[in-house]
Amino acid sequence: MEVSRRDFLKLSGVAGGGFLSFGALENETALGRVNQIPLSKKIGETTTICPYCGVGCGAIMAVEDGKIVNIEGDPDHPINEGTLCSKGASLYQVANNERRVTSVKYRAPGVTDWDDTKGWDWAIEQIARRIKDTRDAGWIEKDAEGRLVNRTEAVASLGSVFPNSEEAYLMAKAQRALGMVYIENEARICVSTAVAGNEETFGRGPMTNHWIDLGNSDCIMAIGGNVAESFPISCKWITKAKDKGAKFIHVDPRFTRTSAKADIYARLRTGTDVAFVGGMINYVLNDMDNNPGNYNMDYVRAYTNASFKVNAGFGFSDGLFSGWSAEKKTYDKSSWQYQYIEDGIPEMDESLQDPNCVFQLLKEHFSRYDVDTVCQITGTPKDTYLEVCRTYAATGAPGKAGAIILSSGACEHSHGTQNNRAYGILQLLLGNIGIAGGGINGIAGASNGLGCSLQGRLFHWLPGTLPPPPAQYQILQAYLNGVTAAKSKVPQTASPWTDRPKQIVSLLKAWYGEHATEDNEFGYHYLPKLGGSYSWMHLFDAMHAGTIKGLICWGINPAVSGPGSTYAREALDKLEWMVVIDLFETETAAIWNRPGADPEQNNVEVFFLPAASTLEKEGSVTSSARWMQWRYKGGNPPGEAKEDLQIINELMLEMKQLYQDEGGPNADAITRLTWDYGESPEAAHRVAREINGYDLPTGKLLSSSVNLKEDGTTSCGNWLFCGSYTEEGNMAARRDPSDSTGVGLFPKWAWAWPLNRRIWYNRASVDMSGNPWDTGRPVIQWDAVNSKWYGDAPDGGTPPGTIHPFIMNWEGRGRLFGAGRADGPLPEHYEPYESPTQNLLSSVQSSPTLVVGTGEVKGSAEEYPILATTFRVVEHLHSGSFTRNLPWLLETMPDMFVEIGEDLAEEKCIDDGDEVTIRCARGEIRAVAVVTKRLHLLPGNGGGIHQIALPWHWGYKGLSTGDSANTLTPRVYDANSLIPEYRAFLCDISKA
Ligand code: SF4
Repeated sequence: MEVSRRDFLKLSGVAGGGFLSFGALENETALGRVNQIPLSKKIGETTTICPYCGVGCGAIMAVEDGKIVNIEGDPDHPINEGTLCSKGASLYQVANNERRVTSVKYRAPGVTDWDDTKGWDWAIEQIARRIKDTRDAGWIEKDAEGRLVNRTEAVASLGSVFPNSEEAYLMAKAQRALGMVYIENEARICVSTAVAGNEETFGRGPMTNHWIDLGNSDCIMAIGGNVAESFPISCKWITKAKDKGAKFIHVDPRFTRTSAKADIYARLRTGTDVAFVGGMINYVLNDMDNNPGNYNMDYVRAYTNASFKVNAGFGFSDGLFSGWSAEKKTYDKSSWQYQYIEDGIPEMDESLQDPNCVFQLLKEHFSRYDVDTVCQITGTPKDTYLEVCRTYAATGAPGKAGAIILSSGACEHSHGTQNNRAYGILQLLLGNIGIAGGGINGIAGASNGLGCSLQGRLFHWLPGTLPPPPAQYQILQAYLNGVTAAKSKVPQTASPWTDRPKQIVSLLKAWYGEHATEDNEFGYHYLPKLGGSYSWMHLFDAMHAGTIKGLICWGINPAVSGPGSTYAREALDKLEWMVVIDLFETETAAIWNRPGADPEQNNVEVFFLPAASTLEKEGSVTSSARWMQWRYKGGNPPGEAKEDLQIINELMLEMKQLYQDEGGPNADAITRLTWDYGESPEAAHRVAREINGYDLPTGKLLSSSVNLKEDGTTSCGNWLFCGSYTEEGNMAARRDPSDSTGVGLFPKWAWAWPLNRRIWYNRASVDMSGNPWDTGRPVIQWDAVNSKWYGDAPDGGTPPGTIHPFIMNWEGRGRLFGAGRADGPLPEHYEPYESPTQNLLSSVQSSPTLVVGTGEVKGSAEEYPILATTFRVVEHLHSGSFTRNLPWLLETMPDMFVEIGEDLAEEKCIDDGDEVTIRCARGEIRAVAVVTKRLHLLPGNGGGIHQIALPWHWGYKGLSTGDSANTLTPRVYDANSLIPEYRAFLCDISKA
């Protein structure tokens, strides 16, 4: 019998936090399979989830006397099976790092150094006082129209997506109670267009499938995502698929480590994804005419809106859809609506021949995306492009599965929403949604992007993605009428968004308990009412304008991560006070002391609160694949560092006391807020149970959101996570590695939202009789004898043929054509805001709806002829505020650099290793030149188009410092989600 290390630990009673004993060592030594380890102390072990990217790998922490002495991959964990990437493998240095801030730091206005003597009590008292004074002085009780709005626009919050979900929930709860509306996190600037695109196509934003499921695929196409570097362990499952014969395609401006693993690497000019995928859609539609047997036309007919007829007034001409107003720079979408045979019932043509049906409109629109035109736009070699089309289109056959993986490279564009729409349309035409090995797999760059966002850390979402009330909804009923969808009249649909009354009432019960009664509209008036957009862009404009006076910066570093860093840093300079909560001193915390600044002239008062890392606290994290996993405390935080949960708890208790003692505007919203969490680690469990919710008369935890009520007899902090912590226990903490499904769903490992469903829209994986299209990889299957489904939790448990699979769309179908986005019902290629070339498809150069930031400048191709993009490396995370303090990672990736193709280097007389200057209309930076074969001169503009690429991880603090790439990126935004255009802009380069 082979005994693995993990088996050995189990035999010795170590697994699950036990202790390694000498007796066990003797037993094992007797087996002769390991060398004796001369341990003299007891070592405890516990598990955690890696805090870096959204893959959610498991790790084991070895702990001695409260100190983490080793971290390694968890062999039992079904995603990473014991492996970790370089970031995960260096976690030890997060826990053991002399650069961690260990005490409260204070910087008074105009002084030149930190004061480390103040301590926690003083800091919490002072911060609470600043928040109260600023909030009360800037309080907006009524808006210009006399409507009660009860909000402050003077205090803002920016958050990272790394805290535990319970912490994020408490931050959101506290900040809404304080009346704050400028509440944003980094999901806005990372992958928000994936949400906007996928919501339009499928009804929901996140990843449809999951990491292990990539191993089921016949063909995986990564586009706009360097998975081998940004999400390395996901490649384990790509490799497993390849071992079974799958093809792997990588589409990217640069040849990267992902490309090196690919069967086909297709180069494209940055910012031309819609053209690239539009051409693939055109290829598939043409091939469907010639070889219909190669596609699952039953799926297309039944599960997409291909047959729906669109208003005869719909049209498209020279880059603009019908309804465009040049004056307003918006679309009137009325001509994008369906034709109806009666109220609420769209007219359909099952033959797909009607010229107004979606299928024909799709063919007409994408017919312009012929291979030659596409390759001229994208710069992709034609033979490579055709190989991509043929290979990926082959996944359209019944019984075949193709997966798309994408990340911020696809999203961070002024047309990022339509990039994602294009991927969704392609996947629907190929029948690749809902099936094992398929899906749209948008990856968040951070471990808890989903958890933090879904808990309400974005201005436009309360916990559970409930819309915060705008000013026009003065009473609860008006709000409910406004945000609750009418029951769909389309037969066999699930009527999404009709449950909002019970979701919001249960949320208010969770927040205001006995003070939320039917008589006072469940405390609806306590919530601030919005007066417009408070997104990242608007937040920095308001800071620049002096409207925002105080900022709470929770684990985020906008001095490096925001677009147009110069503008962001100037905005931070204008604050009166700022609270930074982090592990290491960040560029944002040191804004007053940055290169070129005169600290004596800078009047920002800064409170730096040292935070515990996720290795040093307990709570849940929700991966990109929607798995909610529990992590445990390993060691103690260094010095006086505290958990975020402790910090928000202490701060809010202080705020409550202040308002109790002194009163203030809308004070009841604060004093009556339920807030009784006690000490860690029990506090994390209390919050998790509040999020899950209770049946109030019995006091029992709810088992599912279907049990929520709108009469005030249930409480639930976040309906999406109802069922995650039940009377049976903490579902997120489950570690049963069995997989009865055979397709890697691991339904008893952790918990997936909602309802533990692992693959979304899974009713599309079966035909109308409930038989899987792919019998070898069934996700669900109907057992007619016992009248029940087997496999994954189905999207609706009713028998086959009774409900359409896209339950979050009122039509019940996936939308090839969608009328809800700001920039069009179909994707259309536009050039980036700054482009070296003319749009070859229309006279509309860049997206007509893109939003240009206040005072933003535009560089011309004459002055700045080189196209630039930004990217990430495996060794660093985001702004580098963690990873540039970890010596192991810096050893392999030490300096800020720029990748330059050999042809450009020759033209500019730049050698590998030279220091170079990169300048654009917004400023200039220095970097070390890496002359590489990864980038090439692309065809176009007669002489060709050069691209360069810059990592965006550097700033002026940390062990390694360097110029920030975001000094160069434009403040130009996608109209749907206001994500910035980080990935395409113009510059020039020269030897420094
Ligand atoms: Fe896994 Fe991502 Fe952590 Fe690497 S960074 S170990 S891929 S979770």
